[in-house]
Amino acid sequence: MRIFVMTLFKRLALFLVCCSLVVVTISCSDSSTGSNETSQTQLDSKKGPGQSAELFLNGDQYTSLEVEIDYMPGHKPTTDGLNSAKTFLEERLHKQTVTFSTPTEVPSAGQSSYTSSDVRNLEDQYRDQFTSTDGNTLHVYFLVLDGEYSQSNVLGIAYWNTSVAFFGKTIEDISGTPPAAPSEEKIESTVFRHEFAHNMGLVDNGSPMQTDHKTSGSAHCTTDGCLMKPSVRTTDFFSNFSGSVPPLDDLCINDLQANGGK
Ligand SMILES: [Zn+2]
Ligand SMILES: [Zn+2]
Repeated sequence: MRIFVMTLFKRLALFLVCCSLVVVTISCSDSSTGSNETSQTQLDSKKGPGQSAELFLNGDQYTSLEVEIDYMPGHKPTTDGLNSAKTFLEERLHKQTVTFSTPTEVPSAGQSSYTSSDVRNLEDQYRDQFTSTDGNTLHVYFLVLDGEYSQSNVLGIAYWNTSVAFFGKTIEDISGTPPAAPSEEKIESTVFRHEFAHNMGLVDNGSPMQTDHKTSGSAHCTTDGCLMKPSVRTTDFFSNFSGSVPPLDDLCINDLQANGGK
């Protein structure tokens, strides 16, 4: 009888151990399901310019593109300049929609010149929209500063894979009334397009070059008259400005098309 009770007790104990194991297993699988449901993955927005070129160019996942625009006081981009940049993106990217947000004023950082590291810190402060890896909208950040760049003849930079910045003070300084000086709209149109083209991977910096046309030492084009000539982002270009925004040449367009663009 005593042996029988002991056996019964052992069986009961074994049963309870089994039950608790099942409970532990269920609770583990529950918690892992829960964390999968809440995880939101964001596209890395701190890669180099051109490193997300194919996401700009093709329409496989990101079927729309939205540009968030911030500017410092006194340097709101012109409507014509923004419309020209929007047209350029529509012409080259396989997107159903390209949207530019209403420009938002952000406070001046109070500097007469800004380094690329200053610009990156300002983006950390003011950028609101980021790209989700499960979404279909590619978000881009666009900032106009109220000073010049640390290299004073430069009008704009592409500084991350989805970010561009422009130096409003320098644009203002070289603009005027044509024909004596190019209009602000024309300078903006040219420089906005040039920097966006770096995000598209030009030249040979994200969109592999199909024919040799890269300048030595920088991601620019050797063709005279092309939007991606190295001088186009500097004040030098506008001292001899013909009045029309330079187009991309065929070699640059070929590279974009080979990487999924139009
Ligand atoms: Zn450039
Ligand atoms: Zn070119």
